[in-house]
Amino acid sequence: MEEFDYVVVGAGAAGCVMAYRLSANGKYSVAVLEAGGPDRNIFIKIPAGFNKTVYDPKLNWGYETAPGPHIDNRRIPFPRGKVLGGSGSINGHLYVRGQSADYDMWAQLGCRGWSWDDVLPYFKRAETRGNGGGDPSVRGTDGPLNIQDQRDPHPLSDAYMAANAALGLKHTPDYNSGNQEGTFLYQQMMKDGRRWSPADAYLRPALTRPNVKLVQRALAERILFEGKRAVGIRYRPDGGEPMVLRARRDVVLCGGSINTPQLLQISGVGDAEWLRDIGVEVLHALPGVGKNLRDHYATRVSALVKGTGSLNERSRGLRLVGEVLRYAITRKGLLTSSPSHAGGYMKTREGLETPDMQLYFAPASYAAGAYGVTDLDTRPGMTLGCSQLRPESKGWLKALSADPRVKPEIQPNYLADQMDRDALVAAMKYMRQLLHTKPLADFVLEENFPGPAVQTDEEWLAHARATGSTTYHPIGSCRLGTDPMAVIDPLSMRVHGLDGLRIADASAMPTMVSGNTYAATNMIAEKASDLILAA
Ligand SMILES: Cc1cc2nc3c(=O)[nH]c(=O)nc-3n(C[C@H](O)[C@H](O)[C@H](O)COP(=O)(O)OP(=O)(O)OC[C@H]3O[C@@H](n4cnc5c(N)ncnc54)[C@H](O)[C@@H]3O)c2cc1C
Repeated sequence: MEEFDYVVVGAGAAGCVMAYRLSANGKYSVAVLEAGGPDRNIFIKIPAGFNKTVYDPKLNWGYETAPGPHIDNRRIPFPRGKVLGGSGSINGHLYVRGQSADYDMWAQLGCRGWSWDDVLPYFKRAETRGNGGGDPSVRGTDGPLNIQDQRDPHPLSDAYMAANAALGLKHTPDYNSGNQEGTFLYQQMMKDGRRWSPADAYLRPALTRPNVKLVQRALAERILFEGKRAVGIRYRPDGGEPMVLRARRDVVLCGGSINTPQLLQISGVGDAEWLRDIGVEVLHALPGVGKNLRDHYATRVSALVKGTGSLNERSRGLRLVGEVLRYAITRKGLLTSSPSHAGGYMKTREGLETPDMQLYFAPASYAAGAYGVTDLDTRPGMTLGCSQLRPESKGWLKALSADPRVKPEIQPNYLADQMDRDALVAAMKYMRQLLHTKPLADFVLEENFPGPAVQTDEEWLAHARATGSTTYHPIGSCRLGTDPMAVIDPLSMRVHGLDGLRIADASAMPTMVSGNTYAATNMIAEKASDLILAA
């Protein structure tokens, strides 16, 4: 048994920030517990290595969703990083903060201190905005997180943006300024052509301090309580006997939207009926734990292309050898690619105040049955993707056993809500229209997914149900708030009704942010660290 001021569970996007900030003034000792191992795998470092790491069982919890009643009862692979840096070491490196209205909505919902004006200083403090510059009133200049523009944009991305402009969706200079509408090249969490993960940005610098200890390959099995106060964590080192880390001040849960509610439930905190179902004694009934799970559901349209070198050809044979050499010498080219290159934010219907749809574009195409961005097609192609920004569909996360090694039930309930279905159908029709719009149309040989058999709204919806997938953004399963279904106090990050236990990770988001969820998680951890230190 060892004792620290703070015990942080999880060295992912949020946990790395926590280790760095809680230890910064040198007054407190911090232990960080991580179930995964070191992040030395070369494919973590090379941006295009995403394809290799996303389902690598050595780096991954290897979850899948429960059968989705509105997506033809399909189960969907649901990767989560299990390695230093967490999902931040296997993600697609796209840096997206969301809309200012997202955070103003959180404040409206009762999360005092979480409006855009409140959180902007934390977005700024976190980042160093690299080669792209940006307006210093909204962008940071000297934070740990490196955010850069793409080093080698593809000509098809320009054609994609120009086709959008021809349909009225213009280019926007900085989609991370709070106002998103328009098209752009995605900004990447990268430094000089290498992934810049939370472990690079925060954890390694924290580990240079004498007051930080990292325990790797160690699964947190239980939160230990004395009465209603959390006093530590019982964990199991790889293949070893259970050990204990005691926390003098706080246990801080940063295990992410799946593992944080699971750990709470198996430790006796959650929906009392659910806990009894798995034979766990109720220490503290908190019905919101594991509820309100939301995720982005994406669908795509792809086309065979001509007259340009898509990533499909460039990632094979001699051309790949050339790309590897180019990357080694210049840190440019194909290997610096994120899964998506260009994107956009659009409104799918009249009368909306802000965009409700995110667009993705890749100068590459994938085999028809492939999930996400694995299995490149053998023919040259491009992919247009979309996901509704703030899904109304909600699901749950439920531990199925008191054994921490048993995977929980993950039910995001994709497409349960009519509004989500309507928005996706409108966006897919728009993406097909783009394929017929110059200058993008000049490169199109034919649409091959879903192809001309899909025409009516019903057929588009059937395509979405049958082929859509996660964009890996689960949030909200231990949400901030002050109502009876809320789990975390927005002013202190304390779990309602308990002492010595705080949560700071993607599970805290009350509603979905309008975009990829890393930046918001990073901001939550930055702000939470101040709230915790101020306590
Ligand atoms: C494949 C993929 C692609 C993505 N692409 C993007 C993108 O391009 N842009 C973007 O903004 N977002 C993206 N995301 C989402 C983003 O990475 C997450 O929102 C973010 O990492 C969530 O941070 P977190 O700290 O909540 O959880 P994580 O980063 O997942 O960290 C949780 C950590 O806790 C550890 N842990 C969990 N349980 C335990 C336990 N019991 N004991 C010990 N350790 C434990 C885990 O191993 C992990 O390291 C992607 C995610 C994935 C999986």
